[in-house]
Amino acid sequence: MNIKYSTRVVSVHQDSQGFRLNLDHGEDILAKHVVLATGGVSYSATGSDGEGHKIAEETGHKVTSLEPGIVPVLTHEFWVRELSGLQLESAAAVIKHSKGKVKLEGDLLFTHQGLSGPMILNNSSKLVEILRKDGRILLNIDIHPEKTVDQLSDEFLTAREEHGKVDLGNHMKLKLPNRMIPLFLEMAGADPKLKMNQLGKKGRNNIINLLKSFPLTVTGTSSIDKAMVTCGGVSSKDFDPTTMESKIHEGLFFAGELVDGCGPSGGYNLQQAFSTGHLAGSKING
Ligand SMILES: Cc1cc2nc3c(=O)[nH]c(=O)nc-3n(C[C@H](O)[C@H](O)[C@H](O)COP(=O)(O)OP(=O)(O)OC[C@H]3O[C@@H](n4cnc5c(N)ncnc54)[C@H](O)[C@@H]3O)c2cc1C
Repeated sequence: MNIKYSTRVVSVHQDSQGFRLNLDHGEDILAKHVVLATGGVSYSATGSDGEGHKIAEETGHKVTSLEPGIVPVLTHEFWVRELSGLQLESAAAVIKHSKGKVKLEGDLLFTHQGLSGPMILNNSSKLVEILRKDGRILLNIDIHPEKTVDQLSDEFLTAREEHGKVDLGNHMKLKLPNRMIPLFLEMAGADPKLKMNQLGKKGRNNIINLLKSFPLTVTGTSSIDKAMVTCGGVSSKDFDPTTMESKIHEGLFFAGELVDGCGPSGGYNLQQAFSTGHLAGSKING
């Protein structure tokens, strides 16, 4: 049989001879074992478009809710688009939510619609969970977690003494990426043309408070298609996790992102795909 590269499986049925895989161009394949490893529903352009979940359901397996994992977030503040592509390195953030407090760390990237970067992507699951409960998240970003308020205050006072004639806008280049300075100073209510020796205590405190607690409101995540992984999938109750074999159809196996569960970035999802595929293959090959 000539199976084309683009051939897709549209359904799987078990009969007395084995599994019949119906292909999209109408032909059938008869197989003794089937490993369904069709991925999640994210980045559907790569071919993983949810057809595997449909096949799993049609063969009697439960599919848990499909949620985005490793995914950028959307913010209420529309001005983030002006900072799109700009990264705050080694930032931190504190989220106070209805069930407690979460601390995030890492590089933070502004996007056209919100935020991305390791701080967001590595904590996607937590953010999705809080969003589900609270609807929105107030993110207070600490742009300089390596410095205390007192240290920052000393730095401003020293600059006032030693570089009193320097514009505030220029001085802020030591504290922020250039592109962020106009917007930041506008939010702090400070004039970038002000000389450092004209910056009073109130103005200084406003700037320091904003450096330590820059507020952004997360209202949701990008669509699941823009997520790097799909969390959720074939329920672990419906297969044996030591072999990945279905508890409903002997000889049918599941592997990879198709199954329930997902991990943070760092290779955990790839490892899940490799390990579950290995388990299924080992059982089939005896
Ligand atoms: C941009 C991006 C970045 C990522 N970064 C990371 C990372 O840093 N760390 C990490 O751990 N993971 C990461 N991942 C996720 C990781 O790549 C996946 O979890 C992993 O590739 C899943 O492997 P899989 O074999 O289960 O599914 P996939 O790699 O999605 O492969 C599924 C295959 O099945 C095919 N298929 C689907 N339906 C059918 C059908 N009906 N018939 C025939 N074929 C079908 C698809 O065309 C596809 O080739 C990233 C993913 C993306 C998109």
